[in-house]
Amino acid sequence: MTDLTSLTLAEAREGLANKSFTSLELTDAHLGAIEAARALNAFVMETPDQARAMARAVDAKIAKGEGGPLAGIPLGIKDLFATRDVRTTACSKILGDFVPTYESTITSQLWRDGAVMLGKLNNDEFAMGSSNETSCFGPVVNPWRRDGSNTTLVPGGSSGGSASAVAALLCMGATATDTGGSIRQPAAFTGTVGIKPTYGRCSRWGIVAFASSLDQAGPIARTVRDSAILMRSMAGHDPKDTTSADRAVPDYEAAIGKSVKGMKIGIPREYRLDGMPQEIEKLWSEGAAWLKAAGAELVDVSLPHTKYALPAYYIVAPAEASSNLARYDGVRYGLRVPGRSIGEQYENTRAEGFGAEVRRRVMIGTYVLSAGYYDAYYLRAQKVRTLIKRDFEDCFAKGVHAILTPATPSAAFGIGEKGADPVEMYLNDIFTVTVNMAGLPGIAVPAGKDTQGLPLGLQLIGRPFDEETLFSLGEVIEQAAGRFTPARWW
Ligand code: GLN
Repeated sequence: MTDLTSLTLAEAREGLANKSFTSLELTDAHLGAIEAARALNAFVMETPDQARAMARAVDAKIAKGEGGPLAGIPLGIKDLFATRDVRTTACSKILGDFVPTYESTITSQLWRDGAVMLGKLNNDEFAMGSSNETSCFGPVVNPWRRDGSNTTLVPGGSSGGSASAVAALLCMGATATDTGGSIRQPAAFTGTVGIKPTYGRCSRWGIVAFASSLDQAGPIARTVRDSAILMRSMAGHDPKDTTSADRAVPDYEAAIGKSVKGMKIGIPREYRLDGMPQEIEKLWSEGAAWLKAAGAELVDVSLPHTKYALPAYYIVAPAEASSNLARYDGVRYGLRVPGRSIGEQYENTRAEGFGAEVRRRVMIGTYVLSAGYYDAYYLRAQKVRTLIKRDFEDCFAKGVHAILTPATPSAAFGIGEKGADPVEMYLNDIFTVTVNMAGLPGIAVPAGKDTQGLPLGLQLIGRPFDEETLFSLGEVIEQAAGRFTPARWW
């Protein structure tokens, strides 16, 4: 039998339905792979007993012909999702050993559909970061290495554990979240597929909040089809999230293989950065050529406010974060560091519980929201956000179906390489934050390699609630570029 971990989710679904193997066998194969890959630090909590119990239960259902759309599929869950009776920390010391008594809507939908939980995945603390280096559990290692080098590279962030685990065949797919690029950038750094759906498509209920007007969950998987399969289970209206959209969930998988003939693909001139590496330029034009060969029409478009997106994001996101993170006071959750007064207890707990990047965001956020600065920073950033959104609307109004851009300005970098200057780290999200600011769907698909053998991704940005077009176009790129699997060294 072929190694069960190397199957795609769609192939495993077929194998389970044909009874070629059981979910317990598939789950055990993944638990073995996780154990052998602890060097990657992708999982912060393994749940083998729960995984086997879920697998046995779903095997019994499959035998009776009652398996759901994800029956028996082993998944990893980002540690930002609340999982009932399983420690959930957002990879922050401040949550300590917090064990939720409730399940996030998204994970409950995955279990409803028959998926199996392998464990909780590492991420940047409170999802703040682009390299998974801010986690209180330490950095995640990218399963990819540069040709002929054993330098350890970051998997991207904040969903670094999700991307690393999926790329290293430790799980068949993973949940992830994206506030400014945290699904798409790690997907691009690891040769995996990541989609951030339209804001409101997936429920945020039970996901640790970072910046609520930007946060959106989505899957990371190894193929476009697999991500479409996962999206269908993750999406849907949830009355417990007031920003959740009350719209029917399409059969995303049906979009795979659909013709893209006649579609207009926008190529935004503002995404051509000065000093952008040659290989990113090349990847971008190759991607455009593949879409053209499939019958799409390429059009030059302009998104004039692009250059303000990153600075505006770094006002809006910290502002919301500082407000969301006010709840970690040493009274309600996890860590408590006593003081002589309640005020001192708050201070001690927050000083000790939050890492440096989180403290930086809380301070920036508090500053831009403070009286006297609110109008100059926060209000102005919100206006810029509207202009960014309008750029995209103008573009779609001209008949553009989707926009093609690079996913990241470079391939994965080394652990510790970009620690000194926070702005250098923030620049990683230059192509992805606009999409969150506008609330649009965006998918990152692996499309090639850099000169050192590392995967690179392209991004497709879609109209609101038109994830289907992204799946159709993404698959065209996947077909042309092939799949990307790292050579095993761990
Ligand atoms: N890297 C960005 C940040 O640090 C985005 C993170 C995310 O999408 N969660 O804010």
